[in-house]
Amino acid sequence: MLVVMDHNATKEQIDTVVKIIEGRGLTARPIPGGQRVSIGILNNTGPVDTSLFAGLPGVKEAIAVTRPYKLVSREVKTEDTIVDVGGIKIGNGSLTILAGPCAIENEAQAFTIAEKVKASGAHIFRGGAFKPRTSPYSFQGLGEAGLEILSRVRDKFNMPVVTEAMDYETFELVEEHADIIQIGTRNMQNYTLLKRAGLSPKPILLKRGMAATVEEFLMAAEYILERGNNHVILCERGVRTFVDHSRNTLDLSAIPVIKKESHLPIIVDPSHAAGKREQVLPLSRAAVAAEADGLMVEVHHDPSRAMSDGAQSLYPEQFDVLCRHAAAVYDSFHL
Ligand code: PEP
Ligand code: MN
Repeated sequence: MLVVMDHNATKEQIDTVVKIIEGRGLTARPIPGGQRVSIGILNNTGPVDTSLFAGLPGVKEAIAVTRPYKLVSREVKTEDTIVDVGGIKIGNGSLTILAGPCAIENEAQAFTIAEKVKASGAHIFRGGAFKPRTSPYSFQGLGEAGLEILSRVRDKFNMPVVTEAMDYETFELVEEHADIIQIGTRNMQNYTLLKRAGLSPKPILLKRGMAATVEEFLMAAEYILERGNNHVILCERGVRTFVDHSRNTLDLSAIPVIKKESHLPIIVDPSHAAGKREQVLPLSRAAVAAEADGLMVEVHHDPSRAMSDGAQSLYPEQFDVLCRHAAAVYDSFHL
């Protein structure tokens, strides 16, 4: 249930509603909006009597929330959430570009790629320090040394950085270095990690599980908001299907569905969806046309020598074309 307050409700009136909710052993979660505050009621096992709030000073209405996800839903918050990362806004109607290598390999590699992607128009640098790899024999990432390189990329190129936290144990370390903490597809339903992310002051980039429905995806995001972290960016990165012409199948229809169901920004990672370099440009154009809030793209200056995901990494010149095409598609419907 959601108690919607009048736009001119006072702090005392809001506190009174919170006390009534808490007095019933439930959790009250005030959600500030542009026009008015709404108060979500969480942890109720059955319906809450709306008459408890009807007629209380400052209360506009009490409405039932029909979806299983509450805090992430449009029912609870109608305006779009804008995630601000060092002045770069994701979800404000602009197109945000995140780019960089799959993995941080060494400082020279990271600096070379950062310089190139920045020159092409990327806003945020990506790069894994802790890498989830299918094979235990594959490069696992530089770990803490990779995080330190990322911090130097931020300082040198004045770009926020996003990197993955793979487990609860290393979350704090990643949190110290990252501007956005990524939770990868394999961890979308790692509830211990999601709860920890919910306590972080840093924005979280939550990637869709490779076999997750949109509802499961939004329920995973709900774990993060439920703990108090509202700065969540969703990322569609393709789902596992029967096809073998691409690594995964980019689910473009998830974008309008998620935008209807949730106020959270949704970006697209065409690289992990495709698995093949030649598909990344057309998928990127399509994602922008479907009104994604951003793109996250893997780029490497020497993909044939990349220590992970070389086959799907764009050459910097291809990324430059991608940025121009993405801007042109975006402009075509933002006239
Ligand atoms: C990544 O973005 O580095 C990554 C491993 O992606 P995913 O979790 O989507 O496979
Ligand atoms: Mn990768």
